[in-house]
Amino acid sequence: MSTALTILRRAALAALLPAFVATTTAPLGAQGTAARHSDISVHWLGHAAFEVVSAGGTRMLIDPFLTGNPTTPDSLKKLTRYSGALKPAAILVSHSHFDHVQDAKAIATSSGAKVIGPYELVASLGLPEAQAVGASPGGSIKVGDVTVHVVPAMHSSEPGRPVGFVLEFADGRSIYHTGDTWLFGDMSLIQELYHPSIILLCVGGGPYTEDPKSAALAVRKYFHPTTIVPMHYATFPGLATAAEVRAAFAGDKRVVIMTPGQTRQF
Ligand SMILES: [Zn+2]
Repeated sequence: MSTALTILRRAALAALLPAFVATTTAPLGAQGTAARHSDISVHWLGHAAFEVVSAGGTRMLIDPFLTGNPTTPDSLKKLTRYSGALKPAAILVSHSHFDHVQDAKAIATSSGAKVIGPYELVASLGLPEAQAVGASPGGSIKVGDVTVHVVPAMHSSEPGRPVGFVLEFADGRSIYHTGDTWLFGDMSLIQELYHPSIILLCVGGGPYTEDPKSAALAVRKYFHPTTIVPMHYATFPGLATAAEVRAAFAGDKRVVIMTPGQTRQF
């Protein structure tokens, strides 16, 4: 089967399937395992922190706020975990705030991983040049079998400007990590360019970002994902609660509510 035909078959199957396909799911269709997605692993570390592993084994750590994160399970707070066999190929940081970048430098130093994020922010970390990958919206960086696209976010950052990331995988699917943001019209261009299939969606609200209702509106207006994973809520007082998030997305079968420490395969 040609690569293009394989991708088309996978896209057709994805449209027919529920929001996610677990690794334990039985082979699908007449082609059996040949017609399945290669799994993408999404591990929520709490708040906006995720570990994403591609089908090819490329491991990426996004917004590592772990040691000070009240929702991160203790076993995942030990930074030595991220410098051994689970070393990331890259650490992605969306902006300068402590709840996104706090452990990035320590993990980069102990693991040797590259750090990808806003140019001025990455430059301020004092990492060796080979590890510092400063980027801006519109930029793309190849990491193993994944292409990381840098997209805008409407928030603040000092130094640098805030960003989000779209991780594009070899099978044509992509994950959009919104970073911290308000909904904004250029999300339509993120959809047009990268058509994210999975959105790790900031919903925390409070004084900081889009809240559950406006985040749900952003998805309705701009995106057509198969899966929505709400994040950046219920970490601190003042952020949206889990009940508020469930209410805002009630009836949307694409929503996958994860718990910190949980891993899902898509
Ligand atoms: Zn934040």
